[in-house]
Amino acid sequence: MSDQILGLHHITAIADNAQRNLDFYTKVLGQRLVKKTVNFDDPGTYHFYFGNEEGTPGTILTFFPWEGIGQGRSGVGMATEIAYAVPAGSLGYWRDRLQAFKVPVGENSTRFSENYLPFADPDGLKLVFIEPEDPDTRNPWATSDVPAEVAARGFHSTTLTLRDINATAKILTDIFGYRLLAQEGNRYRFVTDAIATANVIDLLEAPDASPGRGAAGTNHHIAFRVADDKVQMNFRERIEAAGLQITPKIDRDYFFSLYFREPGGVLFEIATDNPGFTVDEPLAELGSGLKLPKQYEPARDKIEKVLPTLH
Ligand code: ZN
Repeated sequence: MSDQILGLHHITAIADNAQRNLDFYTKVLGQRLVKKTVNFDDPGTYHFYFGNEEGTPGTILTFFPWEGIGQGRSGVGMATEIAYAVPAGSLGYWRDRLQAFKVPVGENSTRFSENYLPFADPDGLKLVFIEPEDPDTRNPWATSDVPAEVAARGFHSTTLTLRDINATAKILTDIFGYRLLAQEGNRYRFVTDAIATANVIDLLEAPDASPGRGAAGTNHHIAFRVADDKVQMNFRERIEAAGLQITPKIDRDYFFSLYFREPGGVLFEIATDNPGFTVDEPLAELGSGLKLPKQYEPARDKIEKVLPTLH
């Protein structure tokens, strides 16, 4: 099984104000800040990683908070919704909590016979909490405000909006080992049996929808999980053989990455479990220090002056 795609590794989205983003995910949603670093291609911008206690792949939502970037627009060629799994019976708690923080919340609904609650983060990023039919047994991060019995377990799925799903579906089924599980209207649910959680991708076919515009409140890319960089390079060969352009292996300090744009326009990444977030901080202290990749360490003073102050 370990030579397969193991569901989602992380999802990366764009925010505007860093403090507002940090407060929403850690305080309102009760996620752990597992790493505070900078955008490796733009070190004057933070890169936040939110997840469970260990930052287990499949729980990690990351942000580039670009102050003043302005509102983006979700649309065709993007991941347009992120779904977290929450415990059965917790949606009422979450509705009350989100409303108490004046978070825009939609109507509860049902999709593939699972109840969900849609809402948006302060930048307008679309999120949902889903009560999966099969309870998600992953260990959550618990805070004094969000106890373990209601805390989000990590990703349930993500939705990609596409003009035509076929070419994207083919990547999922023929290369990544997913299969079509079910269809509801224009929503096609794909699942991999290689892992039990964060293993669902929904493709939403919207032939007339407008393209998205990447800025605050939109997703930048989605990363699929592999055990290590040996498995990763096998996938690189298969993606190249399918005629797609793919980057060389890039060291992201906490994982190795490959990027390619799938035919429907969504930026895909393949990311490894190794070496993980404890490579430069002990588990108990994850997220407490500003971590810089070694090429930027000599410029730490300058970078710290440029980055917004966080409380
Ligand atoms: Zn990524």
